[in-house]
Amino acid sequence: MDLCLALDIGGTKLQAGLVTSAGEIVSGSLRRVATPTTADADVLFAAVAALLATVEAQVPEEAAVAVCGVGAGGPMDRAGEHVSPLNIPAWRGFPLRRRLVELLQLPVAVDNDAKALAVAEGWRGAARGVGAYLGMVVSTGVGGGLVLDGRLLQGAAGNAGHVGHVVVEPEGRRCSCGGRGCLEAEASGTAIAAITGRPAAEAGPQDVERCGRLVGRAVASVANLLDLQLAVVAGSVALGFGPPFFEAANAEVQRRCRLDFSRCTRVVPAGLGADGPLVGAGAVGWDHLGALEPLGPQRPPGPEQYRGAADHLRCLAPRHRP
Ligand SMILES: [Zn+2]
Repeated sequence: MDLCLALDIGGTKLQAGLVTSAGEIVSGSLRRVATPTTADADVLFAAVAALLATVEAQVPEEAAVAVCGVGAGGPMDRAGEHVSPLNIPAWRGFPLRRRLVELLQLPVAVDNDAKALAVAEGWRGAARGVGAYLGMVVSTGVGGGLVLDGRLLQGAAGNAGHVGHVVVEPEGRRCSCGGRGCLEAEASGTAIAAITGRPAAEAGPQDVERCGRLVGRAVASVANLLDLQLAVVAGSVALGFGPPFFEAANAEVQRRCRLDFSRCTRVVPAGLGADGPLVGAGAVGWDHLGALEPLGPQRPPGPEQYRGAADHLRCLAPRHRP
């Protein structure tokens, strides 16, 4: 059995594990450590190497690691040759892919963690069975990935799906990108803290409603533009806000998605929970080997935990009836 050595590099934690070609994390293979607070690029890489070594020691006798897949915060250049994760100051233009190839002597693929998470949700999570959707992460920042026709979109520089810079308030707050009123500048955890003066985890009902409404506004623009009917939202801010956030987002989407093809658009919580980033890194690895099946209807919705997608498909059903 071939396995993917999956690695998720975050600002607060590093996690790694073994992911099968079916998108399952091998039982007992997951390891997590806190991301070292260091300004030294090599100290951080040494921590990554140590983590990967502990996971490689878990490879079952009858199995072998065929590829390493990595999800990391952006920005990065195409294919993750050089990464500069915003929340990891030690790495600026760090040649992550090359260093991992030298370390592991394996094929290595690196992609943006929000894009990886978007694929994971179509592979194993709440977008299973859906071939066109937006995957979003609403946490400290706002990121995302787009799946159309069963494939993750890349774009000219690999940044397709970066929904954080869709404008939701035309004359709104200045954004780090240089624009104004981007979703990230209005509804990210950082923005909510700046606007309200307290962390997003302590946001009041009005702040939660506003965040959901603005996310719904961005989703509506994307859904109308790209003919997709599902947005799956992960991230500590959105999932922490819970049902009131999703109700506000869906209400806004229903107000703004009035086209025949967009009327059924839904915003649902991510289905994979804490496993999402690692399953996403696994998807990056398997996709690199050409071993990731296209996402979409050939992967029917699973059991109860995937109710989001199942509800969505029911909504579509009448249009497709002969
Ligand atoms: Zn922006």
